[in-house]
Amino acid sequence: MKYVLITGGVVSGLGKGVTASSIGVVLQACGLRVTSIKIDPYLNTDAGTMSPFEHGEVFVLDDGGEVDLDLGNYERFLDVTLTKDNNITTGKIYQERKGDYLGKTVQVVPHITDAIKDWIESVALIPVDGKEGPADVCVIELGGTVGDIESMPFIEALRQLSFSVGPDNFCLIHVSLIPVLGVVGEQKTKPTQHSVRELRALGLTPHLLACRSAQPLLENTKVKLSQFCHVEAANILNIHDVPNIWHIPLLLRNQNAHLSILKQLNLLSIAAPPDLE
Ligand code: ADP
Repeated sequence: MKYVLITGGVVSGLGKGVTASSIGVVLQACGLRVTSIKIDPYLNTDAGTMSPFEHGEVFVLDDGGEVDLDLGNYERFLDVTLTKDNNITTGKIYQERKGDYLGKTVQVVPHITDAIKDWIESVALIPVDGKEGPADVCVIELGGTVGDIESMPFIEALRQLSFSVGPDNFCLIHVSLIPVLGVVGEQKTKPTQHSVRELRALGLTPHLLACRSAQPLLENTKVKLSQFCHVEAANILNIHDVPNIWHIPLLLRNQNAHLSILKQLNLLSIAAPPDLE
């Protein structure tokens, strides 16, 4: 199984869900089978008990699971049918604990992180596209923003997962914000530099950056990001504001996002050129 992890930095609501779905579309268009997992680090068991004013509408899956609306995007973009297990929350992970560790000191590392890794690895194998056998790639979206206290056990579990599956099977895409200050009128890279540094301090190095901005990124902004964030310029993607989120898979394809991801996952030789028309 190959994993593509989407994390977010700087602010929430950047479009990680839409980016994750769109990456899935681009990979599917290369002939790969894709499944997805959404991690919501909040302590609630699921989105069913949360106010829609805070989190948006609850999306109800075929199995009755009440989940984040990003899973609706995954289902629509990727034409898959997900289960409630494709949405992991801290509440669900803690609920798993049935006294299996009696007598031991139960700790976040390794007990919680192992439970998260086991969950990811077993759910990734479940086919969601009506075909037999596991998908080729599992896109995992980590909700929230890097540095959130709730996210820490998930970040650590994902760091361990990246190490155990090896570099050819793990691609990390960090979604970040490139603001423009009105007075200066310049695309600012510092918030992204800080969030990448935070990610790296936690043991995860992004292979691609997906930069959210109002306008397309300028060439010198890309050069700066590449130098300071330690990410190849070809792997710096720009997701500027678009009138309709269905444009985003094409935006990614036109920047050869698929080539960067396939190269990282050592899949360049087997995947077909993307057909998104
Ligand atoms: P996150 O998962 O980071 O919280 P979402 O994927 O839910 O963010 O996106 C937040 C909102 O921003 C959604 O309403 C989505 O449709 C919108 N959005 C995301 N990316 C873009 C974009 N490139 N242009 C315009 N709107 C976008």
